[in-house]
Amino acid sequence: MTTMTTDNSGDVRLSGISKTYGAFTAVHPLDLTVPQGSFFALLGASGCGKTTTLRMIAGLEEPSSGSVHLGDQEVTHLPPYKRPVNTVFQSYALFPHLDIFENVAFGLRRRGIKSVKKQVEDMLELVQLGEQARKKPHQLSGGQQQRVAVARALINHPKVLLLDEPLGALDLKLRRQMQLELKRIQTEVGITFVHVTHDQEEAMTMADTVAVMNAGRVEQLGAPSDLYENPQTTFVANFLGTSNLIEAEIDTRSGEDIVLKAGGGKLVLPRTRCSAPGTTGGKVLVGVRPEKITLTHADDAGEIAEGRNRITGKIADSSFIGVSTQYVIDSPVCPEFEVYAQNIDRDARLVPGADVVLHWNPAHTFGLDPAQD
Ligand code: ATP
Repeated sequence: MTTMTTDNSGDVRLSGISKTYGAFTAVHPLDLTVPQGSFFALLGASGCGKTTTLRMIAGLEEPSSGSVHLGDQEVTHLPPYKRPVNTVFQSYALFPHLDIFENVAFGLRRRGIKSVKKQVEDMLELVQLGEQARKKPHQLSGGQQQRVAVARALINHPKVLLLDEPLGALDLKLRRQMQLELKRIQTEVGITFVHVTHDQEEAMTMADTVAVMNAGRVEQLGAPSDLYENPQTTFVANFLGTSNLIEAEIDTRSGEDIVLKAGGGKLVLPRTRCSAPGTTGGKVLVGVRPEKITLTHADDAGEIAEGRNRITGKIADSSFIGVSTQYVIDSPVCPEFEVYAQNIDRDARLVPGADVVLHWNPAHTFGLDPAQD
């Protein structure tokens, strides 16, 4: 199948849109641009305002302020059916009495289009349900029903497809399969997808760009790897995986690096990886992702290469989780936190009670402002 659009009509531009309910602000004034053809995820915990934002794009919710543009067209006050968008909900909302073919054909028939066969067959092919055309929705699995819902929305040739927790009702395995499936479909049709989810793994797997929302605001926006490697706030650091935060004090700045004191030791933080304003003597929260850490028994500490960040600790617990072993480490530099590390070597001495050194490349360290929420 060829790309459905070649212009910028699938750009989504939100300018200062907000939503208040009485005294409560569900979405604070928000500026956001989603480029044509991208897979964009709104990610956040329950109640953060992501569905409200999506519904304002769909026209299902009137913004309290601001404007919504789709391409060059302002749609802020247009009703949903006059916007070039379609929404797929978690609850599929298929017509139970119609077969799959007729469910997908529905939008075309409603517009008075008579010859629907080729279009419906192409669409069923796209979502790999060509064989199921004459079945009723209840005869399909949850994942297949969701694909019918996607086909039914796409047959209207929307410029933008909005997806509101579309995989929320599926079990984990099916969910993972459908994530890849939706990504494939989006790549094939080439239109803009805006996907709402609370599942960070889902957002990271599918989206080109993720906006992490918290309490009605976008905390950070970026490519999944960028959000994971360079979180700008503790919320983002903790929402996307395990962050291992250590309280440290700025000691000196040398060239491109900031040298920090943490407990009795020193840690190096590249300036480019520090989002904390900080001054000399100031405090910084230092983070490192668990899989970047190597664990070495204290007896072998002499073998650790120069220039690596290192902290000492004691193994409190370990659990085998298939591809790796997850360790919980007690360390004097993070008394309130536990540090998780996954080591690749199977050192028989790495058991609870063992003294260890955790070490990592300074380039994998990120710095956050401890003063922010
Ligand atoms: P969830 O994943 O649980 O749907 P969400 O991030 O999508 O959460 P929203 O549905 O956008 O969150 O809701 C944001 C906030 O606005 C919530 O606190 C919710 O209770 C509130 N809210 C949503 N709709 C209304 C409404 N019609 N009247 C009053 N408050 C509302």
